Amino acid sequence: MKLQKTVLVTGGAGFIGSHLCRKLLKNGCDVVCVDNFYTGQKRNIEDLLDNHHFEMIRHDIVNPLMIEVDEIYNLACPASPVHYQYNPIKTIKIGTVGIVNMLGLAKRVGAKILQASTSEVYGDPAVHPQVEEYWGHVNPIGIRSCYDESKRVAESMMMAYYRQHGMDIRIARIFNTFGPNMAVNDGRVVSNFIVQALRGEDITIYGEGDQTRSFCYVDDMVDGLIRLMEMDKFAGPINMGNPSENTIIDLAKLVVKLTGSKSKLIRKPLPEDDPVQRCPDISKAKKYLEWSPKVKLEDGLEKTIEYFRGII
Ligand code: NAD
Ligand code: UDP
Repeated sequence: MKLQKTVLVTGGAGFIGSHLCRKLLKNGCDVVCVDNFYTGQKRNIEDLLDNHHFEMIRHDIVNPLMIEVDEIYNLACPASPVHYQYNPIKTIKIGTVGIVNMLGLAKRVGAKILQASTSEVYGDPAVHPQVEEYWGHVNPIGIRSCYDESKRVAESMMMAYYRQHGMDIRIARIFNTFGPNMAVNDGRVVSNFIVQALRGEDITIYGEGDQTRSFCYVDDMVDGLIRLMEMDKFAGPINMGNPSENTIIDLAKLVVKLTGSKSKLIRKPLPEDDPVQRCPDISKAKKYLEWSPKVKLEDGLEKTIEYFRGII
């Protein structure tokens, strides 16, 4: 007889997914991790492989999957601009065909499904901080559109299955998240700056560095995602992130200070359509999930620096 719930985490070998798998196992779930290692790493989950409650399946969600599960966290998707722009057609297929496959699976087995959406649905936002009611300002044909627009389609697809089939869905709009298990080469700002600082290389500031982002430590994010899945019923998309906003130049200075590095800050061209400011309004997450991030940026960076020191 089955006592534990079985939870599918797609993208479970990736950065956030690997932390989520660990936390779900700790919470007593059976976890099935599906990943094609497009941007994820075996190292992130190898210590879980001999756990009887953990199973790893190499699979691409662009193809249908037949499996019996109670809950699905759909995280499979490259998340760093460098990775998702590497093969934009693949990114669009993951966000569109991939979500149809996962929703089809959820419908067939009656599972709850949570989609890892993104602050990128707001594009380069004209409303600040971003509230869930804001429809966004996305360039539909720019270099980020393969990611932004497919995440928007995925939200639309989730809503269609909710309205048409009454499915139990959750949509998390995740803002910049960081921590151990990010890939050394994934090109995102936190991993780039830490790796550059630890190697004594120049720290690459794109543009003037006055653009802002709000950084959430991964433990807080995972806690929020599980709360969202466990919430009574769907309450619309929910922003998940840290409402404390930082300029990129301040982040660079903080990383240099915390690593004790001698690296110099240098300027590089600002990528096309790089959002000028980004900060979540998390009133909804506070109200419905009683959730807000606990880990301060400096403390999260210390842990992340320690991780990268260990692997590079
Ligand atoms: P990541 O690149 O580290 O992890 C993504 C994982 O998905 C990888 O293990 C990758 O191999 C896997 N994957 C990619 N395509 C796949 C496919 N077709 N089939 C199966 N597996 C596939 O990224 P992450 O930061 O852990 O992001 C996880 C999710 O959260 C993504 O959906 C991302 O869009 C979303 N998100 C992340 C952030 C963030 O700041 N980290 C912000 C917003 C949204
Ligand atoms: N960025 C930077 N140097 C880097 C990597 C990124 O200045 O080496 C900037 C980037 O231009 C953006 C911000 O940092 O303004 C966050 O970039 P990231 O790729 O982490 O994610 P985004 O929030 O843009 O999706």
